[in-house]
Amino acid sequence: MVQLKETYQLLINGEYSNSSNNEFFETYNPATGEVLATVAKATKEDVDRAVDAARNAFENGKWPKMPQARRARVLNKIADIMRERFNDLVEAEVLNSGKTVAAAKGQIGQAIEDFEFYAGAITTFGGRTNPVPNGFFNYTVKEPVGVCAQIIPWNYPLMMAAWKIAPAIAAGCPVILKPASHTPITAYMLADICHEAGVPAGVVNVITGSGSVIGPYLTTHPGVDKVAFTGETETGKDIMAKASTTLKRVTLELGGKSPNIVFDDADIEGAVVGSIYGIFYNTGQSCEARSRLFVHESIYDEFVEKFIEKAKKLKVGDPFDKETHMGALISKEHEGVVDGYVKLAIEEGGEILYGGKRPEGSEFDKGYWYMPTVIGNVTNDMRIAQEEVFGPVVVIMKFKDEDEVLKLSNDSIFGLGSAVWTKDHGRAHRIAEGIRAGIVMVNCPISAFPGTPFGGYKQSGFGRELSVETLDLYSETKSVVSYNGERLLNIFRI
Ligand code: NAD
Ligand code: MN
Repeated sequence: MVQLKETYQLLINGEYSNSSNNEFFETYNPATGEVLATVAKATKEDVDRAVDAARNAFENGKWPKMPQARRARVLNKIADIMRERFNDLVEAEVLNSGKTVAAAKGQIGQAIEDFEFYAGAITTFGGRTNPVPNGFFNYTVKEPVGVCAQIIPWNYPLMMAAWKIAPAIAAGCPVILKPASHTPITAYMLADICHEAGVPAGVVNVITGSGSVIGPYLTTHPGVDKVAFTGETETGKDIMAKASTTLKRVTLELGGKSPNIVFDDADIEGAVVGSIYGIFYNTGQSCEARSRLFVHESIYDEFVEKFIEKAKKLKVGDPFDKETHMGALISKEHEGVVDGYVKLAIEEGGEILYGGKRPEGSEFDKGYWYMPTVIGNVTNDMRIAQEEVFGPVVVIMKFKDEDEVLKLSNDSIFGLGSAVWTKDHGRAHRIAEGIRAGIVMVNCPISAFPGTPFGGYKQSGFGRELSVETLDLYSETKSVVSYNGERLLNIFRI
């Protein structure tokens, strides 16, 4: 098993240090509740040090001006070292997040490919020339946007760190990464790898601590040029307001309540197992979890029966067991939130068709757990159909036709993911056109590959990650206009 450190210190300017007041917090294994390590709890002074280091790397360091192909070589080296340490990264991720080993392998595999994707993408990234009147010439240059504060959640710890760090450093931006307090370990492991691969000191800084203390300090800090955030919609609103005081660039990847639409002409087997995966993957702690399942009325009974049959086959438990489908929830508090939503659904008139409680058995005496949960008798205006649960809870509703299901799907403050299951291609693309969401999955339960834009409409945020356009979001465009003509440009005629 991977050897964890006893203490994770702040990583600022390539060096480890305690926080200025020597405070720490504990990080634990959600599957057992056991403490794994202590972690430095940064103060505002520590944030100042991290911002100074990143500013110095931006203004005086070689990274932002380095030829793109050389930065690409370092990104490829990061991917190589991650691959060598794959098992350590996977084990640390499973220990710290309670997710299954199968899920961790997939996510860390993708994180590696993200560095490779941006290593390739950055070598062809640049400005353009634009048509202007004769005698004039205009070209644009892409320059790094500056110091980036990157604040991430606990549900995909290493993958979110990769989604943030890879495009930012590819574009030449120094970063201050703030992982979630539940899951700091693999972010520090990744930062070590960045330094070993040749990222200069001050370009990748990692700080941990209370989100409500150092978060707002970072998002108002005059030394920060951009905030890239992934997390809850409510936190995103606070960040956007705070960042406005210094007009920072902001990108926000927020919550969702994604619809999953099954038509009567779908391949029912495929739709059932795809819909199961779409909600219960990562124990439902997924921003694009398809948590609102709309089933055509003519196949509703048959579909629900098959869906529950498959849900019963899901194995909840030991995250290190290769056969496990659903690991732990992140915390005791979060287990309470999930269970609270299930109770609310019952109060609202919903009917528990499966689950709705902790799994039984002595292996669940420790840690934080919930059964896969299916709720029927729901209407789209109930809170259980409108609010993000962020756990293994799906609501199932009936629909009559395309128009109705589009209205219901779009009746949400969110617009992150969506899925449609049908054999009719015309119908699939009509739904894709009508859905107000950043992602549409057609007969498919997976949405994120390196290169596919990932992000939301409406209150699911704005900006796209994982794709070439992310490089634009870590860049400023400078427009250079010159006059090459021989005639004197005396516009005032003086
Ligand atoms: P969260 O908003 O509670 O916390 C996210 C991060 O923000 C943490 O590092 C936290 O310490 C920090 N933070 C807390 N308060 C802050 C503040 N006032 N200012 C600045 N930073 C602050 O989110 P979470 O509970 O860690 O994650 C779950 C949420 O993340 C869900 O809503 C989920 O949908 C969302 N998510 C979205 C995507 C996406 O790509 N759209 C991906 C993963 C997760
Ligand atoms: Mn939270």
